[in-house]
Amino acid sequence: MIGLSPGVAHVSYKGGGLCLPARSPYDRQLLAEQVVYCTRTKGMVQVLVNDDRWLVHLPTGPRGGCVECGQRMDTAWHAPALGDVAYCSRCALDDRNQRQRRAPVVALRSSAG
Ligand SMILES: [Zn+2]
Repeated sequence: MIGLSPGVAHVSYKGGGLCLPARSPYDRQLLAEQVVYCTRTKGMVQVLVNDDRWLVHLPTGPRGGCVECGQRMDTAWHAPALGDVAYCSRCALDDRNQRQRRAPVVALRSSAG
């Protein structure tokens, strides 16, 4: 649907964007670091990776814990399909978490249609 190759992330922000590999844990670590840099210098960032769409910004408010692991976040990753919750970069980009999250979303879509 998005037209990106599996394992390639597209990072876009106001005024530009870039594509980065996201296959290995090291790739995803570098991607997360690039997203931190972009959110600090460009503001809101959109990340398209493995059919997921994330809107990423710097955490706001006094409580900045990831909804999945509870860790303090350097960037807050929101997926519109997952509701109004924020994930840390590690949980957002983790392969196992992507599969687990996708299952209930599919169930919701099928029951709504
Ligand atoms: Zn987390």
